[in-house]
Amino acid sequence: MAKKGHLTVIAGPMFAGKTTKLITLYRVFKKLGYKVLCFKAEGAVVENRNGKTDSHDLRSLQVTFIENKKPQTILKFIKKEKPDKVLIDSTQFFPDAPTKRVVFKLLNQGIDVVVNGLLYDYKRKYFRLMHELFDLADERMELFAICERCGARAKNTERIAGSTKRLEATSKAKYIASCSRCHRIYKG
Ligand SMILES: [Zn+2]
Repeated sequence: MAKKGHLTVIAGPMFAGKTTKLITLYRVFKKLGYKVLCFKAEGAVVENRNGKTDSHDLRSLQVTFIENKKPQTILKFIKKEKPDKVLIDSTQFFPDAPTKRVVFKLLNQGIDVVVNGLLYDYKRKYFRLMHELFDLADERMELFAICERCGARAKNTERIAGSTKRLEATSKAKYIASCSRCHRIYKG
């Protein structure tokens, strides 16, 4: 029976350095000789579709884009490429149950999985998938941003422009990080 993989979850609001952390791990894993694949939901894409995901400090990471509603597509890449480690960026864009199944299939094959994403939406409601994965993780990293209104530690993502859809990429909506005292729920 295959050794079970290790699940790491990096959670936090926008501007907390989640993608930067993922990029750092990617570089370390590659340097150590591991085969690493990185995936991201199409709906999370910011500016360009050149196969790179930009973090806020502009270092970028080679990713494979996956249709939001079809996280199981990841399994096809796994079968073909046989990676040691799988990284998933902006995981909250994927649907709850099928994504959880994909993550567990990878872990059961002995693949280490690192996911990052938001724990809360702009209304401060949990993203169930991220919440559940966070609970089940072998290793949890909760990152914080700095409140743009008062400078305190911020665990919330605040929408300040755009639609009121729950998930909206930064190309269509504007966000800031805010602490729980300053956070306001965007009404459109
Ligand atoms: Zn504040």
